Amino acid sequence: MHYVSTRDASLRFSSAQAIVQGLSRDGGLFLPEEIPALPEGKLREMAAWSYPQRAAYVMSLYLDDFTEQELLSYAEKAYGPAKFDTPKAAPLTQVGQNTHILELWHGPTCAFKDMALQMLPYLLTASLRKTGEEKTACILVATSGDTGKAALEGFRDVDGTKILVFYPKDGVSDIQKLQMVTQEGENVGVCAVEGNFDDAQTGVKRIFSDEALREQLAANGYFLSSANSINWGRVLPQIVYYVSSYCDLLDAGKITMGEKINICVPTGNFGNILAGYYAKLMGVPVKTLICASNANNVLTEFIETGVYDRNRPFYQTASPSMDILISSNLERLLYLLSGADETVRGYMQQLGRTGRYELAPELAASVRGNFACGCCDDTRTLATIGRVFEEKQYLLDTHTAVAYTVLEDYRAKTHDDTVTVLASTASPFKFCTSVLSALGVHEFAAGTGVITQLETATGRSAPKPLASLSGKAVRFDGCTAKEDMSAVVSAFLR
Ligand SMILES: *Cc1c(COP(=O)(O)O)cnc(C)c1O
Repeated sequence: MHYVSTRDASLRFSSAQAIVQGLSRDGGLFLPEEIPALPEGKLREMAAWSYPQRAAYVMSLYLDDFTEQELLSYAEKAYGPAKFDTPKAAPLTQVGQNTHILELWHGPTCAFKDMALQMLPYLLTASLRKTGEEKTACILVATSGDTGKAALEGFRDVDGTKILVFYPKDGVSDIQKLQMVTQEGENVGVCAVEGNFDDAQTGVKRIFSDEALREQLAANGYFLSSANSINWGRVLPQIVYYVSSYCDLLDAGKITMGEKINICVPTGNFGNILAGYYAKLMGVPVKTLICASNANNVLTEFIETGVYDRNRPFYQTASPSMDILISSNLERLLYLLSGADETVRGYMQQLGRTGRYELAPELAASVRGNFACGCCDDTRTLATIGRVFEEKQYLLDTHTAVAYTVLEDYRAKTHDDTVTVLASTASPFKFCTSVLSALGVHEFAAGTGVITQLETATGRSAPKPLASLSGKAVRFDGCTAKEDMSAVVSAFLR
């Protein structure tokens, strides 16, 4: 199977090349030329399989440079007991009649980014071998909080790689910051940036396109690579858990084979929900994908009207990992729905020039036909956390609570009571102060004391990786002006 760029489908790449390169030189994103279909009866068969077996099978359909056996050995390590606190890796918890929460935060950093970033290092290092690359890969990450830590944990001490993470100085939660600045490993670096996430992201993009820096690094034996969700190696492992959730629903007798489900996803960069759409295209019976946004509701407007317009105020919300105005992976959806690279190229040029584009009417209708949407502000998000904890004894994090609220709105409006998988993207213990205030607590303990405070307030235990943060030494206290980020890279790779 070949991979093509969303902006130029005449260039074809192997899966290993697509993963090594991350982003196409024309600025487009790689995606597979065709979408493999799950054979008849496969979902039923897979219901009896372990999570790593499901992962190896699904990924093998997309990666013909890899054998299923090879992928199974990666998946067993990536999702094994040393990394995940449950053998199911992505378990479902039923909350109410038709709602099944897909908990994607049982990995080492307690956010759903682990699902992909525990796998990506295996895919990337194997792809480097397969393409004959001999330089050391330096993974450069701009993070709004969760990606940075998950990437650090995925790549720490992985041979042939180094990783450097930039985070916005005041744009991440205290716990997220502590998780990053205490990161262990010999090949890791972490640096704050004076500015917001877009400043950090823009700085990283500038470094990627800096030819002089590229040559200097190459002379030192390095090349830059990305672990952001533009890399196909990030999207692919995410398709697995939607397939897996259907298998688990079947296995538990919650649905019958062929019965359609809905999927509701708290969305930022459109990577997670795109993976759900791929699962649908592969043949998982999915009726509607519900895209949930916080106050940064650029996607809600896009799905409703076909107009994408990033010229709007940027809000810092209680769900910071969704505070995004440019949803990169939307580009892949536009290619899937239009099938035309020149169409995507045109929209992306407009977006670059004016920050806005408007879909042709048929394309807008096709988006609306596949996706429902909704948004909610912090007030409603926190109210949902409090109410769901009281009524259902289930503790939602702020991102999942956005999706929960939007799902309730959707059901009230449409009376659609289809069995729904709701993606839960982070442990509530990553966002202690917001969750505590949702529960009516307004005075917060200092530092990691908030974790214990939330444990006491709820009678729930924090995941181990968070509970053990308190004794850890800070290793990285650097901070840079956004103009000086490339100097930080040069120093890191000297
Ligand atoms: C990254 C993230 C999201 C957004 O996921 P996308 O794939 O960017 O849409 C939502 N919630 C949490 C907790 C995240 O870390």
